[in-house]
Amino acid sequence: MSESARDLARRLLNSTGEAAPAKPQRPRRGPGRQFADHPEVAAMAHKRASIEAVYAQFGMPNPVFLTRESPNDTVIRWQGRELVNFGAYNYLGLGNHPKVVQAAKDTLDAYGASASASRIVAGEIPIYIELEQRLARMYDVGDALVTTSGYLTNAGVIGFLLRAGDVAICDALIHRSVVSGVQWAGARQLSFRHNDPESLRSVLRMARGNFDRALVVLEGHYSMDGTIGRIDELAAVAREFDCAVMVDEAHSLGVFGETGSGVREHFSMAGGEVDLWMGTLSKALGSCGGFIAGDADLIGAMKVSAPGVAMLSGGPAPSTIGAALAALDVLDAEPQRLTRLWSNAELFHTLLAARDIDLGVSERTPICPVLVPQEFRAGYVSARLLQHGIYAGAITAPAVPVGSERLRFFLTSEHTDDQLRHTADQVADAVEAARELPDLGGMN
Ligand code: PMP
Repeated sequence: MSESARDLARRLLNSTGEAAPAKPQRPRRGPGRQFADHPEVAAMAHKRASIEAVYAQFGMPNPVFLTRESPNDTVIRWQGRELVNFGAYNYLGLGNHPKVVQAAKDTLDAYGASASASRIVAGEIPIYIELEQRLARMYDVGDALVTTSGYLTNAGVIGFLLRAGDVAICDALIHRSVVSGVQWAGARQLSFRHNDPESLRSVLRMARGNFDRALVVLEGHYSMDGTIGRIDELAAVAREFDCAVMVDEAHSLGVFGETGSGVREHFSMAGGEVDLWMGTLSKALGSCGGFIAGDADLIGAMKVSAPGVAMLSGGPAPSTIGAALAALDVLDAEPQRLTRLWSNAELFHTLLAARDIDLGVSERTPICPVLVPQEFRAGYVSARLLQHGIYAGAITAPAVPVGSERLRFFLTSEHTDDQLRHTADQVADAVEAARELPDLGGMN
């Protein structure tokens, strides 16, 4: 055991050999605190205290909610220091690209800071429609609708499409926003093994007959594992069983495909092979908001009657739309960004694999998971990297199953070779040190 790991062990374990602090008392409800005993509220109070205790006792910075003082670039400023950053899904460096920032400013000047209304009642501006038509062309479908949030797009669209008696059949690693949508709809949710067409086929064979409408929900690029959705094969299976298909392109648009048009381009699919293409503006497009694209009549209906998607919700801030449009222009004009993104992903995976790091089922994409099972070990690696000037967030349950805790590295086109090589060395050291930590009583 290295000196630092032994030191941490000594500090973290109290004299009875159990992890401190002790188990929490059940909080009591009271005036203004009616949710004090809500399971998440109670658990969070305890968790926060124990996480703080772990970091404080070892004199390590707590990397959770790291508050930066700069744009979310490959180098960020934090507490006056510079950190090499792997926490941003700013895949093409567009979130702080001068043309994107300038376009946001220009749109602010032209339309103000807020839509100040839902689109149906005087909230509409021409650039919403310009962006929607561009996204519809990218996905080779009739129309698209831009929204204020990717999360709410999944929740609102599925909430609008399905009813009790319907079913959503989801990849086992599907994003939580889809689960929210199914709950919102009051429909049933079934899952199939991640990315496995045979598993989807057997679920559909058993269950399809029990439901009216069925929606198969997939992702183009899985955000926790860095796997590429087998959309072409899975959509074909869904069609055999009269199911609709929806694909979440959050981490795929601007990443996959020769021109960055996403997984549809990657697999050379026609837009109509999938019913609904959902995406976000907050990742490669360097902005904020979501979109849904598909058949023009369906999109038109959502535009006027899907609660939370467009109806009964303010239109997106004009500057976010101006920024996304400019990001698409840069994507077209600077294809070398995509090339650099993929060569960085390849280099980083190669460097880590050569150091025997567990990369799970990653497919060498710009999302690189580094598996460090157990929450406190993953947190330790993240904090130790922070001490060495590198930021990569730890991902723990419920975002990933208990036992598959990890750090997640987002690669971007803007990382340099030197940054990647230095980080790979530091990751190897930190993972080795985390392995030597003792088990911490009941702490995962
Ligand atoms: N889908 C996936 C796969 C995501 O990873 C995310 C967010 N990280 C969302 C949807 C929600 O998008 P947004 O952050 O734009 O709300």
